[in-house]
Amino acid sequence: MTYEAVRGMRDILPEEVGCWTLVEERVRDVARLYNYREIRPPIVEHTELFSRGIGEATDIVGKEMFTFPDKKGRSLTLRPEATASVVRAYLEHGLHVKEPFQKLFYLGPMFRYEKPQKGRSRQFHQYGVEAIGSLDSSLDVEVIEVAWTLMDSLGLGGLSLRLNSIGCAQDHGRYREVLRAHFADRITSMCPDCQRRHKENPLRILDCKDARCQEAIAAAPGSVDHLCEECARHFAEVRRLLEHASLSYRIDGRLVRGLDYYTRTVFELVSQDLGAQDALLGGGRYDDLVAKLGGPPTPGVGFAGGMDRLILVLAERANAPCADERLNLFLVALGEKGRAFALDLTRALRREGVSVDLDYRGRPLRKQIAYADSIGARLLLVLGENEIESAKGRLKEMDSGVEEDVALTPAAIADAISRRREEWNSSSSQSKSPRT
Ligand code: AMP
Repeated sequence: MTYEAVRGMRDILPEEVGCWTLVEERVRDVARLYNYREIRPPIVEHTELFSRGIGEATDIVGKEMFTFPDKKGRSLTLRPEATASVVRAYLEHGLHVKEPFQKLFYLGPMFRYEKPQKGRSRQFHQYGVEAIGSLDSSLDVEVIEVAWTLMDSLGLGGLSLRLNSIGCAQDHGRYREVLRAHFADRITSMCPDCQRRHKENPLRILDCKDARCQEAIAAAPGSVDHLCEECARHFAEVRRLLEHASLSYRIDGRLVRGLDYYTRTVFELVSQDLGAQDALLGGGRYDDLVAKLGGPPTPGVGFAGGMDRLILVLAERANAPCADERLNLFLVALGEKGRAFALDLTRALRREGVSVDLDYRGRPLRKQIAYADSIGARLLLVLGENEIESAKGRLKEMDSGVEEDVALTPAAIADAISRRREEWNSSSSQSKSPRT
């Protein structure tokens, strides 16, 4: 009997982890730059949090949640997104009392029971920021700027920003009726889901990807034309501030995003490299969510980005940046003396901060060298009787074949390696990963 990972949930193998580590580091660096603090909510929450927060009529709640009873029969759910959890934590720990204005970010796995395809899986990973406690339109722009800065730091150009405003709860009510009327005489030729959405919440029709519905959706009136005065003013200010910051955008009046909690500004950053699932990240305002989850009326704005998609796009571009995870040095030990010497040297070098390894399978010289090559070690040092007697060895660069004499002391070896480190770091974006 062999086992396979659950459909739509995949292993991230050691060869790929360097890219993930780098993206995670960049998310943390950029978040810190804008003063967002990390929060780590649990992966499992009470189901109600999502059904209430995200909305019963959404695809996420209606079809895509991994929900199960615990031993006492309470319904639990693997989180499909993190905004509801962050707001729960904000209220549960009284952050809103201590300091109602909070800037938070998170990273972690999310779960949605969707049909797996390129850029879409059932366990995926998101990073995101949430700025809770202000209606200021400059905060909408800051959140968008965080996203752009992160993309810039990863060298990702060629992206575009889709922007819209869906207004406040009152505007939703009016816009829903406008949409209901628009779709009324076409609804019988649309998909069964949209026929249900037409009754429950016609806004959700605009998220539909079914080919039968696209013509009617493309002809639908945009939400920007149905905003109240205050929401229209807020949106005009967001646009003005984006232009002032030289952040280009394209208005998409039918962008509503698939979660019910959004109000006013909504946006997506899209990449041409992704095909049908082109959104690298998406977000917007959720001015009613805190109150909906039992707190005082408190506005908020944020976004969530897909790590998996980001890494897919990075991998498709040449010179994708990856954290340097290559082993500094592999010691090839010959004979018993060589091995005893290598074991001590390994310990001493690790104390000096050098990543180093050696053979544990009693293999001959040639096989040890082939193994060092296959794991992508940067340097090789052979330790035989001659080397130990003369207390001198030859450090060999595996990529270039260049050799250098080195005294066999931990300090001399560590020094030779630290001289090379800067060069390795600067070339790590092109570095090859281990060849195992
Ligand atoms: P959402 O939480 O639906 O607003 O999605 C925000 C971002 O998360 C999207 O733009 C994607 O990059 C990513 N994402 C959402 N669902 C998936 C999925 N099933 N697989 C991979 N990435 C996803």
